[in-house]
Amino acid sequence: MRAVVYKDVNSVAVEQVDDPRIEAPTDVLVRITTTAICGSDLHMYEGRTVAETGIVFGHENMGIVEEVGSGVSRIRKGDRVSLPFNVACGFCRNCLAQKTAFCLTVNPPYAGGAYGYVGMGPYTGGQAEYLRVPFADFNCLVLPPGDEHENDFAMLADIFPTGYHATVLADLNPGETIVVFGAGPVGLMAAYSAMLKGASKVFVVDKVPGRLQLAESIGAIPVDFSAGDPVEQVVDQTDGMGADKGVDAVGYQATAAEGEEQPAVVLNQLVDAVRHTGRLGVVGLYLPQDPGAPDENAANGRLLFNVGRFFEKGQKMGTGQADAKAYNAQLRDLIIAGRATPSFVVSKEVPLDEAPDAYARFDRREEGYSKVVLKP
Ligand SMILES: [Zn+2]
Ligand SMILES: [Zn+2]
Repeated sequence: MRAVVYKDVNSVAVEQVDDPRIEAPTDVLVRITTTAICGSDLHMYEGRTVAETGIVFGHENMGIVEEVGSGVSRIRKGDRVSLPFNVACGFCRNCLAQKTAFCLTVNPPYAGGAYGYVGMGPYTGGQAEYLRVPFADFNCLVLPPGDEHENDFAMLADIFPTGYHATVLADLNPGETIVVFGAGPVGLMAAYSAMLKGASKVFVVDKVPGRLQLAESIGAIPVDFSAGDPVEQVVDQTDGMGADKGVDAVGYQATAAEGEEQPAVVLNQLVDAVRHTGRLGVVGLYLPQDPGAPDENAANGRLLFNVGRFFEKGQKMGTGQADAKAYNAQLRDLIIAGRATPSFVVSKEVPLDEAPDAYARFDRREEGYSKVVLKP
């Protein structure tokens, strides 16, 4: 089959690789109909992880079940399914607690597996024609047949649940205010989820005009950090208190207004932009190793986070990647009911064969390439 293969820093190619096959009775094979490029794929693409050449990318996958292992009972050939980016077993202690992002059995001795991602186990990515899905009864989310809502459903594998998870980590309640740092696809999904949950004001901090416009289009308040201190802008619009809750949807490649990387700048601004006793949800990615970090401490995941200020404000913080499965069924039903259309973030649809060009344009932050879906 054809698949997007990581070749070297800033280089992917669409190549022929071995077809996946049923390896365990609990597997199914899915013919991919839509898969998406994620900002976290760029971390690997840019050489900012320890990803090795040859890895097939793609953790935001959906498609049609083509082949079913003998031990699968719920999923049938022909089912249209979304696959949470977390590969999980369904029976370990963490899965039973709905913490599927930290599954204990799929990637030992680590907690958590994913498709097509460095350090997340042997699961080939889905930016390809076919995908092997382990523990299929547990991992497949069944969608209505046909091709309606295709790009909305494509957001269910990662970014819609991840954005929603940010609001859960931040413990957002109806009527509260929230500030979301980062208006990339995940930040926009966090803002969108906050709107769905009835936040009274949703601030979105970024500096890219197109992203801020998209945030405004869903009813959020854009905060341009290149036009002035984002903390001041948020505090000024919340009676001098700061927002009730906050989300970091940026992660370790955060930049200051002038453009240079400062890995802890968003975390520190979040502490300042959220009120005393507020709660922070951190879904932006932080890694224990970053080969391209601006200094040696950051290269080992040690950032200059202002713990003193955080403590003084009596805030709480929730961190970590989302458990897509904890939310994807409800979010699917919002899409079916016409209450949510997360595909508003999709900026471009391209054939799988054009993935290398799409990666290069996305990497250059070219307009229109903020959320690319690939069609095999
Ligand atoms: Zn993703
Ligand atoms: Zn598990």
